[in-house]
Amino acid sequence: MERVKDGLKQALRRALSLLNGAGLGLLLRRLGCARGAGIVLTHCIGYAPETAHLPADMKTSARKVERLLLALRRRGVRCVAVRDLVAALERGEPPERLLAFTMDDGYRDNFTNALPLFERHRAEATVFLETHVLGTRVVSWLHRFFRVVHDRGVAFFAAEYARRTREAALGARLVAAAARPGAAAEREVKRLLKYEADLDERERVTREILEAEGGRDAELAAAYLTWPEAEELSRRGVELGAHTVHHEVLARLSAAGVRREIEQSARSISEHSGVPVVSFAYPYGRTWDYHADCFPALKDLGFTSACAAIRGVNDARTDRLELRRLPLSDAIPLNDILAEIDGTFALARRLLRVNL
Ligand SMILES: [Zn+2]
Repeated sequence: MERVKDGLKQALRRALSLLNGAGLGLLLRRLGCARGAGIVLTHCIGYAPETAHLPADMKTSARKVERLLLALRRRGVRCVAVRDLVAALERGEPPERLLAFTMDDGYRDNFTNALPLFERHRAEATVFLETHVLGTRVVSWLHRFFRVVHDRGVAFFAAEYARRTREAALGARLVAAAARPGAAAEREVKRLLKYEADLDERERVTREILEAEGGRDAELAAAYLTWPEAEELSRRGVELGAHTVHHEVLARLSAAGVRREIEQSARSISEHSGVPVVSFAYPYGRTWDYHADCFPALKDLGFTSACAAIRGVNDARTDRLELRRLPLSDAIPLNDILAEIDGTFALARRLLRVNL
C-alpha cells in the first residue's frame, strides 16, 4: 500500500512539475501563489575529471545551471548569495523575488565552471567551504570511500574495512550491508560509517584502504579548491560561507567540538578572504545531523544564518538557523525547483492534502 501511495505521489509530482514548466508556474506566480525564497543546494558544477569518482547526485551540468539562471530572469527573480537573501528578508523584501544559489564543500569546479557562468549572468552565489582540505590537501574519509567504491565496488570496500578495523562488530555489519541488493548496499555501508564508526578508527582504516589501492589523499584533493582560488572567488563577489573544518556530523560531537569546528572554519576563511563569515551550512544537513548545541555557537560567532538540507522555501518566519534548501543535480529535473519556487507544489499540498 505504501509503495502504491509513493508511486502515485511521484507521478503527481512529475505531472505538476511538467505543467509548471509548460506555463502553470508563471501563471501561478502572477496570481500570487509564489510565496517563498528558494535556496538551491548543489555541489559540483560540470563534470571535471577530478570529480569522476563522486556520485552522480553531487553533480549538476553547467548547462542546467544556466537554464535555471535564465528561468529566474524570466520570472524577475534575483539570484543572490545567502547573506544578501537573509538581509533582504530582514528588510521585508518579497521572498518570491529572490533565490540564493549555494555550492557545498568547495569543489574546484565552482571556480573553473561556475564562476564564469555566474559572472556572465550577473548572478551571485555562496560557496560553503569545509576548510581542512584547502590547506592540507587531506580529504575526509568519505572521499576515500567514494574513490575505492567507484573503482572496486562496495563489497570490496566493506570486506577490506572489516579486515582492517578493530571494531569487529561494525566490520561484520558492513559486510552484511554490502550484500544488500542494488543501491541499498552503498547507502547502508555509508550510513554505518557516517553514524556508527569510531571517528579516529574510520580515519585510519579508510586511509589504509585507499593507499593499499595505490590512491593518495593529495590526488583526491584535486577535486577541491585551493586557498588562492577561494580568495579569488571572494574577490569576484562569491560569498564564502563556513561548512566546518572536517565535514563531520555535528550531532556526533560534543558542544565544545561543535563550537571548534564552526569557529575554526569561519576564522580560516575570514583570514584568507578578509571578509567576515556570516553564513553557515551544516554538513549533511538533515535534522538528525546537527543539534541544539549548534545554535548558541552560531549566534555567538556572528552568523546571520545556517542552511540545512531540509526541503522547502523560506520566508520572513523561517528560522534563520534552519534555512530550507532545494537540492539540484542532474538527477533532479529543473522543473522541480521551479515548481517549488513558483508555489505549484505548495498549492497542490494545500488543496490535495498530500505531502509531495
Ligand atoms: Zn557538505
